[in-house]
Amino acid sequence: MLFGPAWRMPDMPLSLPPLDLDRAFVREAIGKLKREAARSADTHLLRLELPAYPGIGFYFKDEAAHPTGSLKHRLARSLFLYALCNGRLRSDQAVVDASSGSTAISEAWFARLLGLEFIAVMPACTAPGKIRDVQALGGRCDLVDDPAQVHARAAWHAEQGACHLDQFGLAERATDWRGNNNIAESILAQMADEPDPVPAWIVCGVGTGGTSATIGRYLRYRQLSTQLCVAEPTGSAFARGWAGRDTTAVADAVTLIEGIGRPKVEPCFLFEVVDAVVEVPDAQSIAAAWELETLFGHRYGGSSGTNLVACLRLATAMRARGAGGSIVSLLCDRGARYDQTLFDPAWLAGHGIDLEKERLAIRRAIGTGAC
Ligand SMILES: *Cc1c(COP(=O)(O)O)cnc(C)c1O
Repeated sequence: MLFGPAWRMPDMPLSLPPLDLDRAFVREAIGKLKREAARSADTHLLRLELPAYPGIGFYFKDEAAHPTGSLKHRLARSLFLYALCNGRLRSDQAVVDASSGSTAISEAWFARLLGLEFIAVMPACTAPGKIRDVQALGGRCDLVDDPAQVHARAAWHAEQGACHLDQFGLAERATDWRGNNNIAESILAQMADEPDPVPAWIVCGVGTGGTSATIGRYLRYRQLSTQLCVAEPTGSAFARGWAGRDTTAVADAVTLIEGIGRPKVEPCFLFEVVDAVVEVPDAQSIAAAWELETLFGHRYGGSSGTNLVACLRLATAMRARGAGGSIVSLLCDRGARYDQTLFDPAWLAGHGIDLEKERLAIRRAIGTGAC
């Protein structure tokens, strides 16, 4: 018996622990994050008509429209909330994370909102525009020559007392996969009145794996037939490991596309919820990123180009089968971040990329319905 005679008021009064003054900080910080979310609008779902693909609707969610310019705005908000609600983040702590840039920019923005010091551990080869953005938001960049060392360096900062936001370790957990306006719920709500409201495919790349995990889980939870296609640079660890569920897979090439194409399988990769993987050579992703400017009037980054190519390949297969339906993908970040890299013809030539040839091929794919 739980509440039998053995359960009595103890003779000694319980000595209460001292009031945790930091709870006031946590309360206020969560209030700030909630108010930021309430002031935010949803990102646009842009529709694209491509006459060569009749009966197929293309939709692109404009994640560049977040205040910090990428889909990492969602992740950074979730990581701060997760750290605070887990009691891992106190008022006197700095926060640290390893990032190829986009996450660092969003985390710096939220750290400033909460009045916390932020350290971004980045590979030294990160696009200069991203480093500038982090610094402009008051963040400190700790640049590491060997990209493989960023995690160890972030762990070192955590040993010195910083709170490790740990995007690669926590991305799939920090996001509420059953809803709470996560990216999948938002997409499906925005599709509700479209001709094909349940997409045939949703297409995204894999960096942390958080976005693909959230979308894949949500599609099952909502009992939808939509399939999830991962668009990755050719030879990435995700592409190598997916078919055999091999968590020891490593990339067999280094990609120029930032944000996706990880060199190894990260803890948040969920191979099981992915229905197809399309591998895209960097030159095609970059040409497609240039083409996005023609299609939408704005520049987007390389991983958005990777997504466009994968959408065209899926649409080509659907068209060949005489199938119609909708394909939804993401515009992951703003192109301005890559002015000195992907959008600099001299830089491209230096990396052996024949931009004009690749752009012609993409235009042909868009114009003829065959990619
Ligand atoms: C992080 C990132 C991705 C991939 O998203 P994940 O949710 O981390 O898998 C794609 N594109 C860009 C530009 C990114 O920064």
